[in-house]
Amino acid sequence: MPGGTVLKICHLYPDLLNLYGDRGNVLAFVRRCQWRGIAVEVHRINLGDAVDFREMDFLFLGGGSDREQGLMAADLEKRREQLGEAVEDGLVVLAICGGYQLLGRYYRTLEGRVIPGLGLLDFYTEAGRKRLTGNVAVEVAIGGEKVRVTGFENHAGQTFLGQIAPLGRVLAGYGNNGRDGTEGARHKNVFCSYLHGPLLPKNPRLTDHLIALALNRRGLPADLAPLDDRLETAAGEVMLRRLLR
Ligand code: GLN
Repeated sequence: MPGGTVLKICHLYPDLLNLYGDRGNVLAFVRRCQWRGIAVEVHRINLGDAVDFREMDFLFLGGGSDREQGLMAADLEKRREQLGEAVEDGLVVLAICGGYQLLGRYYRTLEGRVIPGLGLLDFYTEAGRKRLTGNVAVEVAIGGEKVRVTGFENHAGQTFLGQIAPLGRVLAGYGNNGRDGTEGARHKNVFCSYLHGPLLPKNPRLTDHLIALALNRRGLPADLAPLDDRLETAAGEVMLRRLLR
């Protein structure tokens, strides 16, 4: 990369937010960079660790149980202002399920406990009695093209969007709430989704889109060399055939 640039990846709360192999999202991002000779550096940030989000290129927040979300809400709150600045400056963020919920206004558990969110994005989440679980197919606009993304969801929380765009349209499964056909949320370079899977290893087009956005933000060329994605593509097609028949 020009000038020895290194893409800095922040994995926030890797010990607490790591449901259903969500760490695989970081691995996929890292590997697809490395296979193209793009140097990366992974910063694993746990409760209380120092980090400056404004210096980061990609931030990942995984899913966690209600208990774990409650544990980190106070720590996250201290980072609110800086994270908000970074987001508005175009930091590329992927937040899954519990991590997604924490970026919104609040998450109300089934027992009625309210876990405050950062309020950086305009949505709220309330747990419903029925868990929304299963495989999902979503249509997502990536670089002006409609791409079908697959994954697995398992959440009690039902998210309702305010003044914010969804990540995509549910083709099969529940998505944000099982009612309005939306999945995830999208603001600037922030991508929120309920899809575990993990999401990025299963959906290389989306991974490359995130890498390209991170490179663009640094003013670097983002013409990514194609990789051999035959396995991922074939697996995605099998999943789509089952879900959409
Ligand atoms: N605790 C949240 C819910 O059940 C998030 C779960 C998750 O991250 N999979 O809605």
